[in-house]
Amino acid sequence: MPRYHARITGPDYDAMADLVRKYKVMVARHSVEQVANGYCVDGHASGAQIRALESAGYTVERLEDTDKASKARQKETRKVTELAVSAEALSVATSNAYLNVAEVEAALAAIAAAPNKAFTKLIKLPKKTWEKRVCNSLRIGKGTGQDRAGIFLLGGVHAREWGSPDILIHFMQLLTDAYRTNTGITIGPKKFSAAQIKAIVETKDIYVFPQANPDGRNYSMVTEPMWRKNRRPAPSGHSESQCVGVDLNRNYDFLWDFPAYFHPDCPIANSVDPCDHDVYIGPKAASEPETKNVIWMFDSFPNIHYFVDIHSYSEVILYNWGDDVNQATKPAMNFRNASFDGKRGIANDTVYREYFAAADRKIAVGLANKMRDAIKAVRGRTYRTEQAMSLYPTAGTSDDYAFSRHLVDSTKTKVYSYTIEWGSPSNPTPFHPPYPEMKKIIDEVTAGLLAFCVAAT
Ligand SMILES: [Zn+2]
Repeated sequence: MPRYHARITGPDYDAMADLVRKYKVMVARHSVEQVANGYCVDGHASGAQIRALESAGYTVERLEDTDKASKARQKETRKVTELAVSAEALSVATSNAYLNVAEVEAALAAIAAAPNKAFTKLIKLPKKTWEKRVCNSLRIGKGTGQDRAGIFLLGGVHAREWGSPDILIHFMQLLTDAYRTNTGITIGPKKFSAAQIKAIVETKDIYVFPQANPDGRNYSMVTEPMWRKNRRPAPSGHSESQCVGVDLNRNYDFLWDFPAYFHPDCPIANSVDPCDHDVYIGPKAASEPETKNVIWMFDSFPNIHYFVDIHSYSEVILYNWGDDVNQATKPAMNFRNASFDGKRGIANDTVYREYFAAADRKIAVGLANKMRDAIKAVRGRTYRTEQAMSLYPTAGTSDDYAFSRHLVDSTKTKVYSYTIEWGSPSNPTPFHPPYPEMKKIIDEVTAGLLAFCVAAT
């Protein structure tokens, strides 16, 4: 069943909500824009979905047959058996193809090895994936102490978003090389001084978990390019391929049981159906080994005070919250308050809005803007900084879970949390653009992350 990358135009706001609510189309929710004849959004839809939309009065511009186009991307990746072994070949700066799953792990191990041993540490995650892969993260930091700001960068959660592990490997390669040689980093016109690099490594802990969902990444690179979920086996009685897997970024313990918390008419892109191709939330909150690994990072390193989860696409930097529009005047109107159950998630009402203190918002927006400005400096692309909630709410995501931890349990650290959605909707195969374009995205996002590490204190 072919899927198309498409631009979908509908007459009004309600028509946009119906795309998710009624037609179950996978939309890039931060691409919604007002146009002359209504609203327009970028998304992916099957031929049958497009026909249903067209007969309901939507205008659908088919951009590409995404499975067919993505097959070309698959051919450009190296096979798992072709594991590059030289440090040169594992350098994202000189690579001409996406790193495969084995290469990401090998590159990570190489960064942690000599001559970087004095200021790096490989951290093995406790849970193996469903396909028994072992995951690793890396701490970059010279010195110890709980007063060091911890910054946690996560990538590779959604299988088809191939560029995120490459971004994080490149970020680590640049940062460790520059620190070791006491030099600055230059990315296009954007410069970071040797003193800034030294301050990052010697006064902060940078935790990087570049490939949280290796099973899914492998399946997407080898078999089905549009795969998003992990590879949890399908429930018994379901042999269809889409019944495998859980959307890891809907599996966290934040309003996870969304039918209990959200308004029944809200256009939330979460599903309790294990056979939903994209957004099945899992059998319970934090059910998945990959989710548990991320939670373990927060639990094990309580100095983590900042978090960035790297996704594609839309060219946006999102801050909390994702479940409803923010408000800063009614602290009791919040995700923990059961009297608002069944009312959350409607964008254009005031019945429920999520409490985000003005002081927190100021910090969150300020840091997001630092990333935005550094990204723009590289080649002029402007990533919008905005709240994660748009027309469409979410639940069970990593960024809201991370910021919610200190509100649920006051002994936990407050974690300012972000999701970056790199890459333009106008790219071919936007979840995994051709590598020459991806390299430009790798450069700009790396600059954004470095600026974030400089600014986060
Ligand atoms: Zn994603």
